[in-house]
Parts: sequence; structure tokens; C-alpha cells
Amino acid sequence: MKKICVLGVTGSIGTQTVDVVKNHGDEFEIVAMSAGHNIQVLEDIMTQITVQHICVQDKHDKLYLEGKYPHIHFYDGVDGLIQIATLKDVDIVLNAIVGFAGLLPTMKAIQAHKDIALANKETLVVAGHLIIPLIKEYHVNLLPVDSEHSAIFQSLNGEHHQDISKIILTASGGSFRDKTRAELENVTIEQALKHPNWSMGAKITIDSATLFNKGLEVMEAKWLFGVDYDNIEVLIHPESIIHSMVEYQDTSVIAQLGTPDMRLPIQYAFTYPRRFPLIGGKKLSLSEIGTLHFYKPDFERFKALELAYKAGRLGGSMPCVLNGANEQANSLFLNQKIKFLDIERLVEEAMNAHEWIDNPSLEQLIEIDEWARQYVLNRVGED
Ligand code: NAD
Ligand code: MG
Repeated sequence: MKKICVLGVTGSIGTQTVDVVKNHGDEFEIVAMSAGHNIQVLEDIMTQITVQHICVQDKHDKLYLEGKYPHIHFYDGVDGLIQIATLKDVDIVLNAIVGFAGLLPTMKAIQAHKDIALANKETLVVAGHLIIPLIKEYHVNLLPVDSEHSAIFQSLNGEHHQDISKIILTASGGSFRDKTRAELENVTIEQALKHPNWSMGAKITIDSATLFNKGLEVMEAKWLFGVDYDNIEVLIHPESIIHSMVEYQDTSVIAQLGTPDMRLPIQYAFTYPRRFPLIGGKKLSLSEIGTLHFYKPDFERFKALELAYKAGRLGGSMPCVLNGANEQANSLFLNQKIKFLDIERLVEEAMNAHEWIDNPSLEQLIEIDEWARQYVLNRVGED
């Protein structure tokens, strides 16, 4: 029985993780879980599975839950996240928190010798230089949950790292893939939140529309697979059937395909190197689909990709600035405070204003993240 701690259980990835675990109840058990503010969804999950250790973001939610469920251990805040992620009983931590907030619990879980199933890509973007050495030092497994990275991970099975020629990261192109730069000027939140292929949390759906998501994924791939930026290519593939590919020296390209369903990469992170049936999964019929499309991304229309490659190549503190500024700008767009194209503009301005440092420590990253957010808020007069 694999004992799992799910961080961010009430979100899009979190609830699908609950599904996967319920479908294979004799193999997996959630022994601890966390939620942010969505207590109603949490209570609904509590009716489906029995979990002894639960963390929420705010103390008043904890007090409410303790009054209602006296037999369960409740925790709160960042300390609570760390406590449940490092419980003796836990074998693997699935981190499905959104944003920078996922970093500290990931680091502490590794240091407590837990395997990590990582959906929270922001962790690797800002702190890959700290996380990867920790993974090696503590001899734990880091299993990608992001669909593209799971596809690459699967395409690398049994291969030799030195034989890789490049990684081809596919991208749906997000909600606005067919719009011109001029048309992007006045797009609305409602339009941005309508992703053509995937149903996801609000932040990542906006990130998909700006292509910051793909930019973050380029950096995530660099850290996960130890490949240079020159050898990571983004390819727009509107159908999201090929989830990503690896090209080898001998020109062979190995890909992983399937109907878009996040439960597959979630489940594979738990079953690796085995494969279990995906209950309720839809089999891929290429004859039904008929045609797949591919084209190169337009780096001028999607500035975010260019910024991400730039930040990634510079390394050090710059990815943290890109990420923090993007999180803040993304949230301002969701709250109707700024326009869509302001997101990339603000991220670029923050990157230009930042005094770069090499090899930032965790404490420095926390400060830089805060600086980037504050910079964006100041620029739009929201401080
Ligand atoms: P979501 O917004 O649906 O869920 C986020 C979860 O984290 C919720 O449970 C929320 O309550 C919790 N949370 C948010 N902020 C928190 C904080 N400061 N402290 C503690 N808990 C907090 O997000 P999602 O779409 O499930 O995405 C989660 C992560 O997985 C992101 O990093 C995203 O990029 C990545 N991811 C998601 C998908 C997808 O299909 N949704 C695919 C690939 C990768
Ligand atoms: Mg992805």
C-alpha cells in the first residue's frame, strides 16, 4: 500500500488525484491532505475518503473543522503543510499547490526522505538549482505530474541520457492560439478561461493563454531532464494528443500519446514503473481523429516564451523574478485590474529592473519572490 500526502487536494489536480486513489483503493491510500480556502470542497472530499491528517491555510477554518470532526488531526498554515508532508507514515507527497507556496513543503518533504510527485512546476522553475541536488542527496524519486513532462519521462524509459538530441515540448497554444497580437489587446477573462482541451485551475489556464505556462514548462524540463535550453523546443500541437517527445541522436523520435486526461500522469507517478488500468479513461482512436497539426510558436505574438528562455538561460535569480511577477500579474488580470497583454509587459519590466544574483538561497528566493510581486503591484498602483 502506497501512502500518499496530497497538497492542494481541493484543486483541479488534487480532486483528480482523489479519483485515481479511489479507483485503486487496494494500492493507494491518502493519509494526509491539504486545502487552501475551499473548505466546502474539502468537506465533500472528506465524505468520500477517510483521512486522519488535514491541513488548511487559515486558523479559523482549522478551528471550525476541529469543532465538527473531533477525531481528525487538523493543521494550519505553512507549518501545517510541512508537518503533514513529513509525517512518518507518508511515502510520497503529491504537490498540487499552485505557485511559489509549493516550494518550502517540497524541500522539507525531500529532506524527510519522501518521494515527490510534482505538479507544482513553480517549485522547479524558481529553485531547480536547490531541488535537484537535494533529490540526489536524499536519494528520493522526483516524478513529474505535468502531462508533457510525464510524456518525456515515459519516452526516456530505458534510454541513455547521452543519446538524447532534443526534447520537443508540445503546447496546445491555449485559448488564444488563433488570435493576432492586435486581437489579444482586448480579450476578456471569460475568453481566457475557456481552454480548448483541458479543464484546469484558473492560474494555469491564464498561463496557458499567455504561454507563460509553456515557458515555465521549458524551465521545468531543463531541471527534470538535465537538458540545455538550446535542446528544448516548443511545438504547437492544437489537438493535445502527443503529450511531448524526445529526439535521439540516431534521429529516432519517441513520443507518448493519449487522449487528454490528467489522471494518467497522476496515476503513472504513483505506479511507475508499472502501469495500471485508468478507470474511466478514454482510449485513443487515431482513426477517429484523422489528422494532427503542428506548427512553430510565434515568439513575437507570445512574448512570454521568449522571456522564459531568457530567464532560464540567465538562471540564478531571474526565473524567480519571472515567476513571482507572473503570479502577481496573472492574479491582477483575474481580478480585472489589468489587461491581458499587461501580464507579459509587467513581467518583462520586473526582469529588467531586477538586480540579478547567482545561486540564490531559499531565504533569498523568498525575498526576490516578494520583491517581484511588490514591483508589479507598485507599477499598477495597487500597493
Ligand atoms: P488549482 O487552483 O485548481 O488548485 C490549487 C490547490 O492549491 C487548491 O487545493 C488550493 O486550495 C491550494 N492552494 C492554493 N494556494 C495555496 C497556498 N498559498 N497555500 C496552500 N494551499 C494553496 O490548481 P491546479 O490547476 O490543480 O494546479 C496545481 C499545480 O499543478 C500548479 O502548479 C499547476 O501549474 C500544476 N498543473 C496543473 C495541471 C492541471 O491540469 N490543472 C496540469 C499540469 C500542471
Ligand atoms: Mg503541462
